[in-house]
Amino acid sequence: MTDFDGAFLPRGAHDYEEARLGAVWNERKPDRHPDAILIAASDRDVQEGVRHAAARDMPVSIRSGGHSWIGNGVRDGGLLIDLSALDEVTVDAPDRRATVRPAVQGTRLNALLAAEGLVFPSGHCPSVGVGGFLIGGGYGWNSRALGPACFSVEAVDAVLADGTLVHATDETHPGLMWALRGSGPGFFAVVTRFHLRVYPAYDQILRSAYTFPREMRDEVLAWTYDTVPDISTSLEMSAKVAFTPGVERQTTMITAAAFCTPDEGPGMLDPLEKAPFLHHALRRVERVPSTLDDLYALSDGLTPKGNRYAVDGVWTDAPVAQVLDAGREVLDGLPNRESFLLWMLWGGQPTREDACWSTQSRLYFSPNAVWHDPADDLRAESWAHDSLRAMAPVAHGTQFADANPADRPDHGLQPEQAARLEQLRHSYDPQGLFRTYLSPAESTTALALHRRRMTGR
Ligand SMILES: Cc1cc2nc3c(=O)[nH]c(=O)nc-3n(C[C@H](O)[C@H](O)[C@H](O)COP(=O)(O)OP(=O)(O)OC[C@H]3O[C@@H](n4cnc5c(N)ncnc54)[C@H](O)[C@@H]3O)c2cc1C
Repeated sequence: MTDFDGAFLPRGAHDYEEARLGAVWNERKPDRHPDAILIAASDRDVQEGVRHAAARDMPVSIRSGGHSWIGNGVRDGGLLIDLSALDEVTVDAPDRRATVRPAVQGTRLNALLAAEGLVFPSGHCPSVGVGGFLIGGGYGWNSRALGPACFSVEAVDAVLADGTLVHATDETHPGLMWALRGSGPGFFAVVTRFHLRVYPAYDQILRSAYTFPREMRDEVLAWTYDTVPDISTSLEMSAKVAFTPGVERQTTMITAAAFCTPDEGPGMLDPLEKAPFLHHALRRVERVPSTLDDLYALSDGLTPKGNRYAVDGVWTDAPVAQVLDAGREVLDGLPNRESFLLWMLWGGQPTREDACWSTQSRLYFSPNAVWHDPADDLRAESWAHDSLRAMAPVAHGTQFADANPADRPDHGLQPEQAARLEQLRHSYDPQGLFRTYLSPAESTTALALHRRRMTGR
C-alpha cells in the first residue's frame, strides 16, 4: 500500500461515506461510489495517487471545491482524488499575480487581494472552489470586462497521467494550457496550483435592482437583451424570473452591478435608469455603494447550502422574440416558489487561440430548480433539463459550469475545439486514466431513473 501524507479511504473505511457525501455541495447526492477516496495533503500525494490508480487500472476523478451541481467527481469505481485540503494562496502585489491552490474559495482570494488593492473575477457564489471554476471557463463578478476567469490563468502546476508534476506555461505546454482554459470536466490532468494574473481593485461598486410585476416580464427581458450590446462591459446586468417574498405572483427583477474605475464611473448606470418602464417597478434599490462581500452575500442568499438543486443552461443570441417564445415552457413553468430562471447578459467573448472556451453568446439562459423533498426530484429535474429542450432551435450550446451532460447532453465547445481537445487528451492521457464528462448511463437522478423505466433500458 502506498504511503500518503493525507488519508486514503477505500470503500467501507470509517470516514469514506462522509468524504463521499462531502465531495458534493448540492444536497442532492449521486448514488455513485468510487472504490477509494484519497484526501490529498500534498503534491506528492496527488502524484502517488495518480500512479497508484494507473498501476491498478482505476480511472481517476477529481474534487476541488465540490460545487459541481451534478457531483462530477463522484463516479462509480476508480479513485476520487479529493483536493479540498489544498487551499493556500500567495499574492505578489507588485507584479499583480497570485498563486492559488484548487480548493481556495473566491471570497478568501478576494479578501487577500483586497488588502493589496487588487481583485480577481471569482465566481458569484462565495464558496465556489477555484479548481473547477477556472477550468470550466469561470464567469465571475465583472467577467464581461475582465474576461472569463480562465483567461487570467498564466500557468499551472499539474500532475499528468504518468504521475509527473509539471509547471506548465503557454511556452512549455501550449496544448495543456489551451485545454485548461475552458474544457471543464473534460480536462486531462490534476492541477495543484493556478498562477493567476490579478487586477487593480475598483474605485467603487454600485448596485441597482428593480422588481417588476409578472405581466411586464417579456418587455423587461427583451429590453435588457436588446440594450446589453450598448452598455459598458463593466456593468454586469442580469435578470431573474422568480417569486419574490411578499409578492403573490411571479416577478422579474433586473439587477446591475457597476464596477467603477477611473475611466468608467457611475454614469454607466444611466442607460438602465432611462429604461422606459422603470416607473412600473414594484421595488427598487438604486446606486447602493457595495463591496464584493455584499455581492457574495446576495448570491449566497440566492443559492444557500442545504437545498436540492438542478441547474442547466443554454447560450443564445437569436432575436429576443424567438428566445422568449422558445423559453416559454421554462419561464411559465417554475416548479415552485423557490426555483428561478436566470437571464444572464454576459455578452459573449471572442474565442482565443490560447483557450478552448468557445461556446458563448449574448445571453446565458439558466433554469435553477431549488427544492427540499426528494419526492419532488422528478418534477424539479424535469423542469430544469427537459423544459430546456424546447430552446434547442435558438440555443448555441451550454456552459460546463452548469452543464448536466448526463441528463441533457449538449455541447460546451465548438466542434473544432471539441475535436482538438480529444486529440490532446489522447496524447496527454493515452490510457484514458482521467474521467471525462458524465455520461447518461452514469446518472442516478430521478429523471434518469424515470427515463430508464419508460424505455426499459
Ligand atoms: C452555488 C453555486 C454557484 C455557482 N456560481 C458560479 C458562477 O458564478 N460562475 C461560474 O462560472 N460557475 C459557477 N458555479 C459553477 C461552478 O463554477 C462549477 O460547478 C465548478 O466546477 C465548481 O468548481 P469546484 O472546484 O468547486 O467543483 P468540483 O465539484 O470540486 O469540481 C468539478 C470538476 O471540475 C474538475 N476539476 C476541479 N478541480 C480540478 C483540478 N484541480 N484539476 C483538474 N480538474 C479539476 C473535475 O472534473 C471536477 O470533477 C456555481 C456552482 C454553485 C454550486
